[in-house]
Amino acid sequence: MKNHTGKIKLLELTFSELVSELKKRYGKGAHHAAILFREIYSNGNIDLGKSPEIVRWKKLYVQLCHDLKVNLNPVVDTIKENGLTKFVTRLKDSLEIESVIVPMATHNTLCVSSQVGCKMGCKFCETARLGFFRNLSVEEIIGQVFTAKFIFDVDIRNVVFMGMGEPLDNFDNVMQAILVMEDQRGFDISKRYISVSTAGLLDGIKKLAALNWPQINLALSLNAPNDQVRSQIMPINKVYSMDRLREVLMDFPLKKNGAVYIEYVLIKHVNDRQEHAYQLADYLKPLRAKLNLIPYNRRTDSLFEAPSEQDVSRFLSWLVEKKVFVRKRSTKGLGIRAGCGQLGNYALLNSSACPKTPLPPGGVGGGKGNLLISFTPTPTLPQREREKQSFRTGTK
Ligand code: SF4
Repeated sequence: MKNHTGKIKLLELTFSELVSELKKRYGKGAHHAAILFREIYSNGNIDLGKSPEIVRWKKLYVQLCHDLKVNLNPVVDTIKENGLTKFVTRLKDSLEIESVIVPMATHNTLCVSSQVGCKMGCKFCETARLGFFRNLSVEEIIGQVFTAKFIFDVDIRNVVFMGMGEPLDNFDNVMQAILVMEDQRGFDISKRYISVSTAGLLDGIKKLAALNWPQINLALSLNAPNDQVRSQIMPINKVYSMDRLREVLMDFPLKKNGAVYIEYVLIKHVNDRQEHAYQLADYLKPLRAKLNLIPYNRRTDSLFEAPSEQDVSRFLSWLVEKKVFVRKRSTKGLGIRAGCGQLGNYALLNSSACPKTPLPPGGVGGGKGNLLISFTPTPTLPQREREKQSFRTGTK
């Protein structure tokens, strides 16, 4: 929470952590912390000098100006479609991340990134093609919520960790960010409105279970009915099989009437057969699970094909026949590459900084398995510009 120069990163602290920090450093406490929290989380003001009340603290104000640090990174690109907004934030080291504001019937959901790039290498995913750069700090995660709320002026009620990165691979920072988000004096987004989506990082799921936060929503990106198919499209499955995954999910603490969310991206000719639906139904039987069926979003140079409406309806009917609780998720945001599995910053992908190496030596999960995957040719920057242009002029 404090960096090496001894600064206090305000966006990384819960209210009680800030109180103890103020107490330790200046002999102050809840009163001053409440005003700081109000300025930041209610007024969206990160410049202490703009608050006459704080300026009147005189000596403390001068000390805080020196000791407190609030880094808010700039938005460098915004693309909108059908009320949905994707924004690109440039970080201090010039890397970029993407976040998406999704308007729902009664509220807004923010899809946040947890890493720059990702190690998991899922073959249907844009982010995977970036390779892995680094984890996001707590401040960089909270900064996405701050930006949505105060720069885009949107009231965010739900947060889903479904943007760039595998959140459980950045465990400590993601969990601290959740604690900061849910603070009632801060964003006040309770855990039951926060979802963490994982490709199936077993150790991370166990660690999350050990926290015993039954309110939190866990979503597993399953996407396959059996190990053979899953290993083909999700290299992590070569390390953690579906059976092992299910065992861990069965022990996951859930609230009353709660369920684990299972995400299934339906890909034509890959996981869309009748036998797949039946295998999936069998796999889910022992679990308290709700299934989200997501038609695959095709990209320009995609390896896979998107299913037709008819394919999706047929697959749904096979699942319903087997009494699976399933709902179809819409593919909002396809035009701006903000659909599921489509967050992958094109500027980054085409920069010389992009490692295009999906996993560190030794692979996922501490050394077993060679999970390296090959990359398909990447779109160029002019291509990206053309896409954006065609969206803006409505010539898609
Ligand atoms: S789907 Fe998620 S876990 Fe898989 S590569 Fe993409 S961002 Fe990473």
